[in-house]
Amino acid sequence: DERRAMLTETVEHLMQHGNNPGARTRLVQLMEERQAEVTHGRTGLDEELEMIRDQFRRYAVERVEPHAHEWHLKDELIPMEIIEELAEMGVFGLTIPEEYGGLGLSKASMCVVSEELSRGYIGVGSLGTRSEIAAELVIAGGTQEQKEKWLPRFASGETLPTAVFTEPNTGSDLGSLRTRAVKDESGDYSVTGNKTWITHAARTHVMTLLARTDPSTDNYKGLSMFLAEKTPGTDEDPFPTEGMTGGEIEVLGYRGMKEYELGFDNFKVKGENLLGGEEGNGFKQLMETFESARIQTAARAIGVAQAALDVGMQYAIDRKQFGKSLINFPRVSGKLAMMAVEIMIARQLTYFSAWEKDHGRRCDLEAGMAKLLGARVAWANADNALQIHGGNGFALEYTVSRILCDARILNIFEGAAEIQAQVIARRLLA
Ligand SMILES: Cc1cc2nc3c(=O)[nH]c(=O)nc-3n(C[C@H](O)[C@H](O)[C@H](O)COP(=O)(O)OP(=O)(O)OC[C@H]3O[C@@H](n4cnc5c(N)ncnc54)[C@H](O)[C@@H]3O)c2cc1C
Repeated sequence: DERRAMLTETVEHLMQHGNNPGARTRLVQLMEERQAEVTHGRTGLDEELEMIRDQFRRYAVERVEPHAHEWHLKDELIPMEIIEELAEMGVFGLTIPEEYGGLGLSKASMCVVSEELSRGYIGVGSLGTRSEIAAELVIAGGTQEQKEKWLPRFASGETLPTAVFTEPNTGSDLGSLRTRAVKDESGDYSVTGNKTWITHAARTHVMTLLARTDPSTDNYKGLSMFLAEKTPGTDEDPFPTEGMTGGEIEVLGYRGMKEYELGFDNFKVKGENLLGGEEGNGFKQLMETFESARIQTAARAIGVAQAALDVGMQYAIDRKQFGKSLINFPRVSGKLAMMAVEIMIARQLTYFSAWEKDHGRRCDLEAGMAKLLGARVAWANADNALQIHGGNGFALEYTVSRILCDARILNIFEGAAEIQAQVIARRLLA
């Protein structure tokens, strides 16, 4: 009876006329007619943000898309030229306050930029991620001197950071990590231990390094964050700094910056580079960056999902079977319709999280939801786009094969899906 009471006329209408084959077909017709538009449907963002989107879409089409697949197949580092161009466009200082050399823009702008660059190639859309994390760490936890020293360098891109947290035996349970940082009489630290899965470790200048300063602890309380300086490596000598070694991990996707395992043996870090100048705050400082990092990862996921839709739709238009384009078959266009709808939902949740963040409100729940959903949508879209490609989708030669590999990482890093789901559930039940 209770269920029947909910079946009002409006609900019945929606059930019959909402998500049905006719509606999906019509939606895809509209998408085809407006294929020249940058997004399928209005985003709800203001004109300034849409101008930023257009600028980065143009850049990605001209400078990234033509090369991304080759960088991926050859497993190459993204050329420094691209990093320099992004630096010039302000990508690394987007949300850093103007007084510290940044553009002082919103997290919403960071979303739009990350989305459009990741649509070109996730590797390029992720170049700013480590700068964003490092800047957030310094803004939230750094001393005044550290802000003045580091933020302008991050903003200009002259100092590229890498995030060094994960260890061979500690991933999701980061609080239990074992790498030790021991203070000597001069006030400097010696770091010893192993790290792994460190993205862009070789070519970068500084590590935001999480290590245990209190050996009597085995939880998050004894951890401290360092801004550990290193010499950028070259192809011939990727890890020239004393006390540090590294080896590349070969990966399915998310290439372009490369991942490494690192070994530290009495690696020296200056005492002045302890974030905030006080031990024991490292985990708390890192947690303060989670909202932004998740919003940024959600935006990267949307970019990948959109890239999948872009290539899936184009293929469905170009490829003919049974005398017509694939897009005319409802089971194909139905996939494209749902891809566009799911992108829109993930996008709106991500923009809402950014909006909350920009207005100084807590948004860990929303940002976690956006990241979890975004990663799923990216994977589902990549899978559907590959399906539309038929056998060609399985060929390395086709872009969609890379998009599938790139999409897969989003559910693993920046809080694996299971951990994200747990955090969301805990908040909802609290
Ligand atoms: C390409 C790539 C790039 C990366 N870049 C960086 C980087 O730059 N810097 C860095 O520090 N790290 C980086 N990481 C590491 C990444 O953050 C970790 O892989 C991630 O935190 C998961 O840790 P793990 O791999 O040890 O998996 P584990 O923690 O061992 O988890 C394995 C599986 O078990 C699940 N699981 C674990 N605990 C629970 C639980 N309590 N309940 C339910 N399920 C659970 C996980 O969700 C996962 O599915 C990168 C990883 C990859 C693959």
